[in-house]
Amino acid sequence: MPEAVLQRAAAEMLDWHGSGMGVMEMSHRGKEFGAICTQAEADIRELLAVPSQFHILFMQGGGLGENAIVPMNLSRGTRADFVLTGSWSIKSHKEAQRYCEAKVVASNAADGHTRLPDPAGWQLSADASYVHVCTNETINGIEFQQLPDLAALGSKAPLVIDFSSHVASRPVDWSRVGLAFGGAQKNLGPAGLTIVIVRDDLLGHALQICPSAFNYKTVADNQSMYNTPPTWGIYIAGLTFQWLREQQEGELRGVAAMEARNIAKARLLYDFIDGSDFYANKVDPGCRSRMNVPFFLADESRNEAFLAGAREAGLLQLKGHKSVGGMRASIYNAMPLGGVQALVAYMREFERSRA
Ligand SMILES: *Cc1c(COP(=O)(O)O)cnc(C)c1O
Repeated sequence: MPEAVLQRAAAEMLDWHGSGMGVMEMSHRGKEFGAICTQAEADIRELLAVPSQFHILFMQGGGLGENAIVPMNLSRGTRADFVLTGSWSIKSHKEAQRYCEAKVVASNAADGHTRLPDPAGWQLSADASYVHVCTNETINGIEFQQLPDLAALGSKAPLVIDFSSHVASRPVDWSRVGLAFGGAQKNLGPAGLTIVIVRDDLLGHALQICPSAFNYKTVADNQSMYNTPPTWGIYIAGLTFQWLREQQEGELRGVAAMEARNIAKARLLYDFIDGSDFYANKVDPGCRSRMNVPFFLADESRNEAFLAGAREAGLLQLKGHKSVGGMRASIYNAMPLGGVQALVAYMREFERSRA
């Protein structure tokens, strides 16, 4: 989280803007929270340049919830295409099978999830209700550097992207997207808020079994207030949107500024890893994630010592996901360049002292 956002939330914790209430104490139907919610929506629309034909929904249930909510709303019980590129898209595909015919149209399993399957080779269905892609595989450290152009690949289906772990770290080409979903907890705010950005024409086709609170049309028609929305999450995400809008790198502002910063952070870390025989990253350089950098020590018997030293240096949460092993540096939006510099300095020193 950006420290400025946490400071502001702390200052407003007991009394939001002279209302005599903290945000957690407000009715979600009162004018104060109404203003917070409207502003948050306007700010993310501006920040991500979301066109007017898209609805922005503040929901609950997280990325895993959306794995069921998306097929319940979009599949019409027919077929949906899945591109499997790592842990998260595999989970999405598995869950969707409960609601529709979920077809695997490409997979990088044979490559150990280290490279993206070339879109030209995807076996897209002629009649898919949507095509699901996870645009940043958080655990495997793979990211689409460009969204697939489904129309150019001969598919008429809308593209659904799970952008949970890189939302707001780079611009989105909305001309290629039908729906984007993401949990807020990686780049935007506390756990508990899920953001769904969905094109108008995709609303209103939900399956009968879809809970009303998870029916995108119901949520959109009620401005995300059909049921009580995660008010605290919306408030904090709103502060983060404002912080992001203020960020500047040279001429660049907002998400473009964040992207420039994220490119610099990722380059610093990958260049260091590639220049060392002591550490390795196995992902194809063309699709390496700017947010999640898995890496391995050549001598894995040193993993515990590496992590213990890192903790002592104030560098936390570096242990890799259990399905991949090794280390993983998640250098999300709010991680400053200085944080990555500190990590590289520690890695260099650890290598030197063990040489
Ligand atoms: C973290 C993450 C999720 C999380 O789902 P939750 O249900 O919010 O835990 C989903 N997709 C991706 C790509 C993620 O990184």
